[in-house]
Formats: sequence, structure tokens, C-alpha cells
Amino acid sequence: MAPPKTYRSETVILSYTPLDEADLLVTMYTKDRGKVRAVGKGARRSTSKLVGHLEPLTVVNMSLINGRSMDIISQAEVIQSFSSLKEDLTGISKGLYLAEMIDGFGSENSPSPHLYQLMIDTLTVLQADSSLEMPLRFFEFHLLQVSGLMPELYFCVECRNELEPDAHQFSPNVGGTLCLDCSPEDAHLRPLSLRALKVLRLIERSGILEASKLNISANLSGELKSLLSTTVKYWLGKEIHSNSFLERLHNETLPKV
Ligand SMILES: [Zn+2]
Repeated sequence: MAPPKTYRSETVILSYTPLDEADLLVTMYTKDRGKVRAVGKGARRSTSKLVGHLEPLTVVNMSLINGRSMDIISQAEVIQSFSSLKEDLTGISKGLYLAEMIDGFGSENSPSPHLYQLMIDTLTVLQADSSLEMPLRFFEFHLLQVSGLMPELYFCVECRNELEPDAHQFSPNVGGTLCLDCSPEDAHLRPLSLRALKVLRLIERSGILEASKLNISANLSGELKSLLSTTVKYWLGKEIHSNSFLERLHNETLPKV
């Protein structure tokens, strides 16, 4: 019998769940194979060499063995632990939101090095300043783009006319922006301000560092958040749990010291 095939992959851990007595079922996003679910044998024992290497949001050089039904983790070497991001409640909540979106959009046997890099870049920017909201908007927008669900921002998706510098409408259902003259029957249709459209265009053409430095009003930030997270949810077809958690965290009134 041929020996089992092993492979190495740079990967970011998304989540894990306990399996059997001492194992972990780990969901990860690899740079060159897309999403992978693999078993960490004995990983819950304190003596396991995998302890501390399989925490969500950890970037790992992973060795895996091709299993009959599921791959087995044989070795893990931490490249980047994002430890200061994980020590901060806002930071870890935002990081887990990204992980849940990658889990939802990423597919097995369909690698996207671009999506992998987007995850690493966004975690890096959030680790430097977890209070920023723009990295999440940048991530959501580019996640849609990488997934081929890129919303149209320059032409009305109905009449195909070039959009005037004016207020418009937006719907994930029809693929992006519509002029005010077009109003198809669409429950997802919503207003889109000119300022929000301009920021979306900037997010599209800039890098994450430039987009994250953008200083916008709370109103505009709220409009973009609602628009992009609704679009992501629309395509994912389900609520993203950590997003509701972020929402609660945001709305919580902190006691004055
Ligand atoms: Zn139109």
C-alpha cells in the first residue's frame, strides 16, 4: 500500500470544534488549497505539541496528511499569532467576524491566494488599531469582488447609463447601483448617497492602508456598514453571528469612570 500523502500549507485558522475525546476538528483557510477541514489528533491534551498552534486567527505553517475522509494535522508551526489583537475584545470580535466570512465565502478545493492575503492584511491593520471600522468595509467589499460578486459602481445596472454625480439606489439582488429613474420591483432596493458611492469607489481602487486612513462621519460610516454587511449577508444567505455580537458591543453603553 502506498504511504499516505502529506502536504504543507501556509494557513490561517478560522475555528475549531471538539471532536471525540481529545481531538479537534479545525477549519482553516490555506493559501494554496482554499478552505480545509482537518483533524488535530489529541490536540486537546495539554501535552500535545499542537497546543496553542490551532487558536482561531493564528497563521501557521501546517503539515497535513491526506486522510480517507478528512485530512490529519501532523505538524503546525506558528508564523504569526496576532496575540495583541486577540487580547483585545474589539480586536478579537472583529477578527472572528472576518474568519466567519472567509468560512462562508471560501470553498474547499478552490484556492484564492487573493482572499488569503486579504484576510492577513486586514488582521494586520486591525492589530495596529482595532477601533478602526474601515478595514472591515474594505474586507467586505474586496471579499465580494474576489468572490465574483463585485457590485457595479459606475453604470446603472438596469438602463446601463453612466451614473451622474447624484444620489442613487443600490441593491445586491440586481448587482449594484441603479439610477433614480429605474425602480424595478426589488425588496432589497435602498437609497445610496453620493458620498457613500464615492467612498465605495475609493475602496475599490485603493489599498487597505489608504482606505483605513479615510476619516468619514459617523453617518456615512453607518450607511456603508449597513450597505456592505447587508450585501455580504444577502450572498451568504444567513446571519453572520459575530456581526450581531459586534453590533451589541457597539451599542453597549460603557459606564463612565
Ligand atoms: Zn437606470
